[in-house]
Amino acid sequence: MGSDCLFCRIVAGEIPATVVRETDTTLAFRDIDPKAPVHVLVIPKEHYADVATLGQGDPALAGELLATAAAVAEDEGLLGDGFRLMFNTGAYGGQEVFHVHAHVLGGAPLGPMLCR
Ligand code: AMP
Ligand code: ZN
Repeated sequence: MGSDCLFCRIVAGEIPATVVRETDTTLAFRDIDPKAPVHVLVIPKEHYADVATLGQGDPALAGELLATAAAVAEDEGLLGDGFRLMFNTGAYGGQEVFHVHAHVLGGAPLGPMLCR
């Protein structure tokens, strides 16, 4: 994928990001337009379009992504009061960037899961 993908370019260091955690296979950085007091995106460094492709293509990497998300939640002090982990997927899911990313959201009550 590479140069066409915004998050691959962040992994490559071509676009700046506020990185909060990095492992050999994953990267966590603050969302540029936060929707909660804590809003961190966690991605695999390898390009997968969405969580379905990642989960079926490399379940071990999906597990590493979850481990990084949990470590971010702990670092950000979210484990006590709770947080939300979200993967927007495809058109109906409202996905805008097609490099899989987990949203780690917390720091305040987040309201209902979905607006009806
Ligand atoms: P989604 O709608 O799930 O695809 O979410 C994409 C997220 O990426 C949004 O919350 C954006 O605010 C965020 N975003 C877009 N560009 C950047 C960037 N350069 N650095 C950090 N977050 C970004
Ligand atoms: Zn990518």
